[in-house]
Amino acid sequence: AARCTSDDGDRGRRSRRTSGNGPRDTPSKVDSWRNPKDRPTPVKSGVLSGVESAVRSSYDGPDPELAEALMRDLLVRSPNVRWADIAGLEEPKRVLHENVILPLLMPDYFQGIRRPVKGVLMFGPPGTGKTMLAKAVATECSTTFFNVSAATLGSKYRGESERMVRCLFELAREHAPTTIFFDEIDSLCSTRGSQNEHEASRRVKTEMLVQIDGINGTAEGQRPQVMVMAATNCPWDIDEALRRRLEKRIYIPLPGTAERAELLRLNMQGVEVADDVDYADLAERARGYSGDDLTGVCRDAALNGMRRRIAGLAPDQIKGLSKADVQAPVRMEDFQQALQRINPSVLADEVQHQAWMAKHGAI
Ligand code: ADP
Repeated sequence: AARCTSDDGDRGRRSRRTSGNGPRDTPSKVDSWRNPKDRPTPVKSGVLSGVESAVRSSYDGPDPELAEALMRDLLVRSPNVRWADIAGLEEPKRVLHENVILPLLMPDYFQGIRRPVKGVLMFGPPGTGKTMLAKAVATECSTTFFNVSAATLGSKYRGESERMVRCLFELAREHAPTTIFFDEIDSLCSTRGSQNEHEASRRVKTEMLVQIDGINGTAEGQRPQVMVMAATNCPWDIDEALRRRLEKRIYIPLPGTAERAELLRLNMQGVEVADDVDYADLAERARGYSGDDLTGVCRDAALNGMRRRIAGLAPDQIKGLSKADVQAPVRMEDFQQALQRINPSVLADEVQHQAWMAKHGAI
């Protein structure tokens, strides 16, 4: 049976961003998308100072304290991920470009039958770039970015998840255009657990459906206000009503051999690497490693020269060493040892994911 990531805990990679009120576009203002200069610029990453006061002054919903907490916990200041930072994943990038980025850039074209999708679901093993893709969309379109993960929410919002969801969407509209990213959405809306949890998560899910339905009432020519992106390792745990709203469903697989080589190269940018390093060979050996695992391998390999240098030295002697004393080009053997030390972190449910994609995927 497939294992879910819902109790994996925070993988220690969440950042925060604060952003400000994006100008709201009226249909009359956005009729000249062909000339980007005429288009009102959406909010720039991290331009707002004093978020709390901005929330207080602009938020007129029923829950100012909750709003403030959400702004503090979920708003990501400058996600700052570019397409070029993401190795491989050409098909997901294409789908996101066409379905999320273009509607933001050309709102008056994406009308009627061409209306933008309500949401996008990215599924696949953890550590494969789903969060990066969501951040890249937010960066590319300069939208406000909320990162909602089950881990960030933890017990903090337990019991008030429903209120949280409502308030979050209110904030998202307020700071539009906005991208909301729900990581591990299965655990936020899971229908499993005790009767009480079951009841609570049913309410959260209903609230999500209502809110997602509400965001796409954009008037003619108006830029989509809020874009919902979600990620999960267990797409089969998402029930049909929510699945239908996440209209694009894309499989984000573990990297293939070529992508692994690219990931290794990307990770070692700016680090001195010895001539004997053969990324293609390493990529072959790193079968089953996720992008996140490969970052770990590179980090470990990059430390190996230092390990060699300080072996057998006393703390006092180490203290006297300069950076130049310990720095050495990273060698092939450093990578090989790192690969031995670090094992792949995920058991990919490749067969199951592919089967789900074949049945419910939409790209
Ligand atoms: P997910 O959301 O799928 O669990 P993330 O997007 O948070 O994974 O990726 C975790 C880390 O793994 C990133 O910070 C990055 O270092 C690395 N990574 C994973 N996939 C990629 C990729 N396709 N390109 C570049 N880096 C990647």
